[in-house]
Amino acid sequence: MSTIGLPMPVLRTPTLDPGDGFTAHDENSLLDQYDRRARDLRISLTDFCNLRCTYCMPAEGVEFMSRDAAMTREEIVRFVRIAVEKFGVDQVRFTGGEPLTRKDINEIISGVAALEPRPNIALTTNAIGLDKRAAKLKAAGLDRINVSLDTVDPETFETMARRPFLHRVLEGIDGAQEAGLDPVKINAVLLPGVNDHQAPDLLQWCLDRGLSLRFIEQMPLDAGHSWDRGEMITAADIFALLEPRFVLTPDSAPRNGAPAEKFLVADRRDPGTVLGTVGIIASVTRPFCADCTRTRLTAEGRVRTCLFSHTEVDLLTAMRRGADDEAIADLWKGAHWKKLAGHGMDTDDFVQPQRPMSAIGG
Ligand code: SAM
Ligand code: SF4
Repeated sequence: MSTIGLPMPVLRTPTLDPGDGFTAHDENSLLDQYDRRARDLRISLTDFCNLRCTYCMPAEGVEFMSRDAAMTREEIVRFVRIAVEKFGVDQVRFTGGEPLTRKDINEIISGVAALEPRPNIALTTNAIGLDKRAAKLKAAGLDRINVSLDTVDPETFETMARRPFLHRVLEGIDGAQEAGLDPVKINAVLLPGVNDHQAPDLLQWCLDRGLSLRFIEQMPLDAGHSWDRGEMITAADIFALLEPRFVLTPDSAPRNGAPAEKFLVADRRDPGTVLGTVGIIASVTRPFCADCTRTRLTAEGRVRTCLFSHTEVDLLTAMRRGADDEAIADLWKGAHWKKLAGHGMDTDDFVQPQRPMSAIGG
């Protein structure tokens, strides 16, 4: 067992009664009743994906949303403009499903990059096709990129993603680095008995290429609802897997609300030489809900205040019916005010959301 600990999670208590004193115009920001302010907008561009990762999507029989149901480029840029102008949102991350399957992604990014003030623009992708698109994405205004890669073993990749496309993902990562996207962060989910034993090799592979790896604890967002709290690989397990080969030292740089706990990494045979960093996102065992700064829009333009919400508020229908910016901002604020204190994954009465991760936007 590791000697390195993660800080204890903190849950906030409400500072205001939502029915007592709150009006949607109180603040020019997106506040909730626990006094958290959302500055980070995650937008799903599509629920479609060209992989079928077992922890995210079903093997077959997925019904994707119709093209008309999804936000258009203009609608997306308008939602971001409202968030930037009315709430001070300064970080936008595009995700999905697989966002690179949207043909208009360059135009969406350049539209957001033209906003004043310009938010920081990030993308989470499986990197398929990224080799041919990275330079144009960067030119359009993309600032940061996260690529999902759980293994560098082709067979394990096929088992986990249910598609034999590891080579395409690796080409995509090369393309991102060649295009000068920096840093390229890698997200990995470890599944027991599938790729957990490969964690040290994956870290070494990333260190060798100057890629910044983050392990994400598996969350109950799989389409098959087969997540098991007792079976999942925890942050403590990840330390135990890495420590025989690496020395991990907590990074003293400020975390600034980031979900990943960062560690400096050295090889045990040469503990004085830092080779890079690794992050651990312990969403399940060390939730960071008290510091959450996120608001989310699904590809159909519905606000979700949390990955684990059971309710959504439909902003797109209001927009399509002619609502002005003020009215849309008020709807968004009203939804966000009700954001729960925490996701409750570790409680007995936790109920997994109906939508899988691919249909929410990770
Ligand atoms: N398709 C893109 C990708 O894979 O990067 C973007 C969407 S994906 C839903 C976003 C992130 O969510 C990925 O890093 C993926 O590994 C992560 N993810 C998906 N299902 C998850 C789960 N059940 N638990 C933890 N992370 C999950
Ligand atoms: Fe697709 Fe990303 Fe989900 Fe994998 S994690 S199935 S790549 S949306």
